[in-house]
Amino acid sequence: MTYTKWFHSHADKHKNIVAKLSARNYTPEQIINYFEFDNMVRTENDFCLLYAMKTKCHDIPHLNCYWCACPYFRFNDNATADNEGNTLFSYCAINAPQGKSFQHENKVHHDCSDCTVSHDTKTILKNFSTDWKETMKACNLTF
Ligand code: SF4
Repeated sequence: MTYTKWFHSHADKHKNIVAKLSARNYTPEQIINYFEFDNMVRTENDFCLLYAMKTKCHDIPHLNCYWCACPYFRFNDNATADNEGNTLFSYCAINAPQGKSFQHENKVHHDCSDCTVSHDTKTILKNFSTDWKETMKACNLTF
C-alpha cells in the first residue's frame, strides 16, 4: 500500500469514529481517551492492523492512537532519485532525535518506531482538532 492510499483510508476511519463520538457530545478529552489503545482494540478493531494481534506499535503504558500517524511525518509517493540514485520517500519534519531512516535497495523511508511524540495525550489535547486530515495535511507531499 502506498503512503497516500493509507493516508486517505485512515482519514476516513478516523472521521467516522470522531463523528460517532461527537454525536454523543463527547468532549475533546473524552474523544482522545476513547482512542487509548486498550479501548480501541476492544471497540474499533479494524482501525489498525496491529489491533487484531493486540500488538502496540510502541511498547508504552498509555498508548494513544488519536494522532496515528504523526503530524511531523512527511511522505512523497512520487519522490524522485537523487544524484546517487537514492529516493527519499519519507522523513521527519522536526528531525526528532528518536527517529531514524532506513534504506532498502535505493529506497529511503523514515522509521518512527522509537519515537512516541504523536502518542502523548497532553500534546494531542493541546493541539486538538476533530479533523484528522487538517491536522495531518502537511504530511502528504505527493502531488
Ligand atoms: S520521528 Fe517522531 S516526531 Fe518525527 S515523524 Fe516520527 S513520530 Fe513524528
